[in-house]
Amino acid sequence: MPNVELIKITKRYDNVVANDNINLAIKDGEYVSVIGPSGCGKTTLIKNIAGIIKPDSGDIFIDGKRVNDQPIEDRGIGYVFQNIALFPHMNIWDNVTYGPKVKGWSQKESTPLVKEMLDMIQLSTRVEAYPSELSGGMQQKTAVARALTSRAELLLLDEPLGALDVKVRAKLRYELRRLVKDLHLTALHVTHDQEEAMSISDRVIVMRKGKIVEIGTPFDLYIHPKNIFTANFVGEANFLEGTIAHILEEGSIVDLKNGLRLRVTIKNHKIDDHVVIVFRPEFGVIRDKDDNKTFNRLSGNVIEILYSGNIVRYKVKLVNNATIVFTISLSIQDPKLSVGDNLSIYVPPEHILTYPYPKGGLSKELSLE
Ligand code: ADP
Ligand code: MG
Repeated sequence: MPNVELIKITKRYDNVVANDNINLAIKDGEYVSVIGPSGCGKTTLIKNIAGIIKPDSGDIFIDGKRVNDQPIEDRGIGYVFQNIALFPHMNIWDNVTYGPKVKGWSQKESTPLVKEMLDMIQLSTRVEAYPSELSGGMQQKTAVARALTSRAELLLLDEPLGALDVKVRAKLRYELRRLVKDLHLTALHVTHDQEEAMSISDRVIVMRKGKIVEIGTPFDLYIHPKNIFTANFVGEANFLEGTIAHILEEGSIVDLKNGLRLRVTIKNHKIDDHVVIVFRPEFGVIRDKDDNKTFNRLSGNVIEILYSGNIVRYKVKLVNNATIVFTISLSIQDPKLSVGDNLSIYVPPEHILTYPYPKGGLSKELSLE
């Protein structure tokens, strides 16, 4: 339930700045995820909030109260991490009641809460079981219940589903969100799985090299990412270099060389500005060869076809030598393309994002470090 506010949080390890001047506000009841490449500072962020480590500078507020000097057990948080840390020699009931017992609560006080938690995670009938008798998913749910039975209202989850099978993960992530929403908790969930973050969060934080690059709703990060890095990290995208050739009444024309030109909606650039245009693989539409409309077409040759489930991915080498990927959902309208085929793809201007060409170069901006 509490809100969380971080003001200018910095944490260094030798010459690594693991959290670099982080400002962040999480609202009461929000489910927020943190994604970013390995080593970008996600765990450090969670540990700072939990009180497992102390920031070098900056302030942390939970529910409006500065908690920098408060020990972990007084912060009202439940902390769950990837390696399931249940006590192997205790059954589920004893594991879940451990926190209240240590705190010296009477059984009368803790039992209703423990029962509620076990009901919520649908393990009420398994209280006698030992951790080794439960599936990985059940164990991790037990870890969440245990984190919550000390009346934690802020749930900090560090890759909580990371050790589980894909199908179990996919199911449990929705249960986690439901639990947080039903109990009116606030959650901060670190994951390296951007799809997981996108499917359960109210907002997603994208981190890179100790800094927050961008925060937004899953939809905004996917459709209108403010940064090239976000466009690349969240989902998949094509990145093409070009220069602004014309500014129009509505939008601009970007020249991609060798006769390839695309209209984009943005017009806050100058002629000859070096830009990067970005579009998602699913926003290309194959045009019929006989269709003589040439507006916003990219033409080239299919160099690779990959099937993954219901999605077909075409890698296309464009006439300017750049390579793009576009995808279609398998359907009865099979475009019947083969490797080597010539094709042209229409990309609607409203689905093309335009960014200034990054100072350090495009490949550096796309690197996942
Ligand atoms: P993430 O969780 O995003 O993978 P971490 O927060 O664990 O990243 O780490 C951020 C950076 O801080 C990394 O470069 C990591 O090596 C470094 N780091 C984290 N913990 C320590 C530590 N205890 N001692 C030294 N360096 C650390
Ligand atoms: Mg980590």
